[in-house]
Amino acid sequence: MFSVPALTYNYDALEDYISADIMQLHHDKHHQGYVDKLNAAVEKYPDLQGLAVEDLLVKLDTLPDDIRTTVRNNGGGHYNHCLFWLWMSPQGGGQPSGPLLEAILQRYGSFDAFTEEFTTKAVGLFGSGWVWLQPNMDIVTTQNQDSLLSKGEAAPLLGLDVWEHAYYLDYKNKRPDYIAAWWNVVNWPVVEQRFDASK
Ligand code: MN
Repeated sequence: MFSVPALTYNYDALEDYISADIMQLHHDKHHQGYVDKLNAAVEKYPDLQGLAVEDLLVKLDTLPDDIRTTVRNNGGGHYNHCLFWLWMSPQGGGQPSGPLLEAILQRYGSFDAFTEEFTTKAVGLFGSGWVWLQPNMDIVTTQNQDSLLSKGEAAPLLGLDVWEHAYYLDYKNKRPDYIAAWWNVVNWPVVEQRFDASK
């Protein structure tokens, strides 16, 4: 059975940028909802039980017809949100360092140019979805809770949830304000570790 991992910080730890109300609702209700629906789907297929969510997403095309969409949406939601909590920290913000910073500079010229392009794609994503930084330094988007793993692509280094549930309580319809605030909580050491592990 899948479960929602506990946050490694308090609900109000990101309060200057993301309120405790959003964190609690997002973590305890939205993420829990994905997990509950994922568990209900996999329960029907003993062969699939015990697989990691990554495995389910990678082999999405081979899953039984009656649960494929449920796993796509809710398995994707579970995987994406497990990472999202780790990508934020009350000690976050600033810039990465080391090989990750070098790779960003090589591709984008400056850290500011990188955040500008990421932000532009996040603001421009129509509807609900995610923006990702990939190990090859591409910045890509997916709709809804779709996972890059199901498209045969690498696991993301960093991702931003731009569903309205991630910001509406604090920022109403002002997605750009949410994104500008989010950069202040990005947990760069985790992104650096994922970059090192991707090689
Ligand atoms: Mn979300």
